[in-house]
Amino acid sequence: MVQTLYEGKAKIVKDQENPQEVSIFFKDDATAFDGLKKDRISQKGFYNAQITCLIFRYLEKKGIKTHFIRELDERTFLAKKLQMIPIEVIVRNRATGSLVKRIGLKEGEILSPPVVEFYYKNDPLHDPLINEDHARVLKLASSEELSQLRKQALEVNNLLVPVCDRADLILVDFKLEFGRYQGEILLGDEISPDTCRFWDKYTGKKLDKDRFRQDLGEIIEAYEEVYNRLSRVINQESAFQSRPSE
Ligand code: UDP
Repeated sequence: MVQTLYEGKAKIVKDQENPQEVSIFFKDDATAFDGLKKDRISQKGFYNAQITCLIFRYLEKKGIKTHFIRELDERTFLAKKLQMIPIEVIVRNRATGSLVKRIGLKEGEILSPPVVEFYYKNDPLHDPLINEDHARVLKLASSEELSQLRKQALEVNNLLVPVCDRADLILVDFKLEFGRYQGEILLGDEISPDTCRFWDKYTGKKLDKDRFRQDLGEIIEAYEEVYNRLSRVINQESAFQSRPSE
C-alpha cells in the first residue's frame, strides 16, 4: 500500500512498493516568513514539478548524482528514497535577501567566487545559519560529507549559471538539500522558483517566489516564464547534442 511518508509546505512524499523509492508530488500551496504568510497559487505545483524535472534531468546528464528517476505525471516524479541530511545548502551569486540584512552587503552585489552557506533544518530553532563545526558537533554530517555538500553545490552552480544566462536569467541564489543513498551523497528535494532566485538579465525583474513574499503580483506568470525560457535552452542543447553527425 502506498502511504504518505511526509507532507511538507509545498510537497507530498509517498512511499512506493519498492522500498528504495518515493514519489514526490508538488502542491499549489505557498508559504513564506516561517509559515506566517500562506496562500494557494493555482498551477504553482505544476510549474515547480516541471522545472524540477527539467533541471534534474539536465544535471544527471552532466554527471551530477541526484535522486531523480523519472516523471510520473505532470506534478509528480519518482525518486530514490534518501536518508536526508538536515542541512539547507545555499549558494549565492549575488547579495540579496537574508545576506543583505545580516551582513549589510549592497543589494545585487556580485559575489565571485560564490558564497556557500549551511542552515540547520530545524523548525523550532527557525533554521539557523551554522558553520561546519556546528554541523559536526550536532552530528548532522561528517567533515568529509560537509566538504562534499559544498563541492557538489558549487558544481550545480557552475552548470546552472550558464544555462540560466542563455535563458536571459541571472541565477541570484538557490537552496539545495542532499541525502545519503547506498553509501553515496545524492542531490535531493527540488530546484524551482520556490527555492531559487531568478532575475531577468536585462530588466532585473524578479521571476521567483519573491513575487509572493513581497506581494509583487503576476506570480504564476513568472513561474511560467522561467519554465518556458529554461525548457527552450535545455531542449535546444539536447536536440543539438543528439543530432546524428554527418
Ligand atoms: N530558500 C529556500 N528555503 C528556505 C530558505 C531559503 O528555498 O527555507 C532559498 C530562497 O528562495 C533563496 C535562497 O534560498 O533563493 C536564499 O534565501 P535567503 O537566505 O536570502 O532567505 P530569505 O531572504 O528568503 O529569507
